[in-house]
Amino acid sequence: MLCIGVCPQNLLKMSKSFNKSGYHYAEITADNCRGCKRCTLICPEAAIELFLEENENEPNNREET
Ligand code: SF4
Repeated sequence: MLCIGVCPQNLLKMSKSFNKSGYHYAEITADNCRGCKRCTLICPEAAIELFLEENENEPNNREET
């Protein structure tokens, strides 16, 4: 899996379970995803969706003006 190799946080690994098609799949192992999107961009099947949550405590959040 290409996504496993590109994650700078080393968060992705192969599942022990099988999906509906009978394949192992990539799964996330921790909750400190940086949202860099490398895993989503490299996947040839576009199988990964990334949903980012707003966090008021993050210093880089946009401020409303
Ligand atoms: S978006 Fe998250 S899981 Fe995907 S490569 Fe970046 S840090 Fe890893």
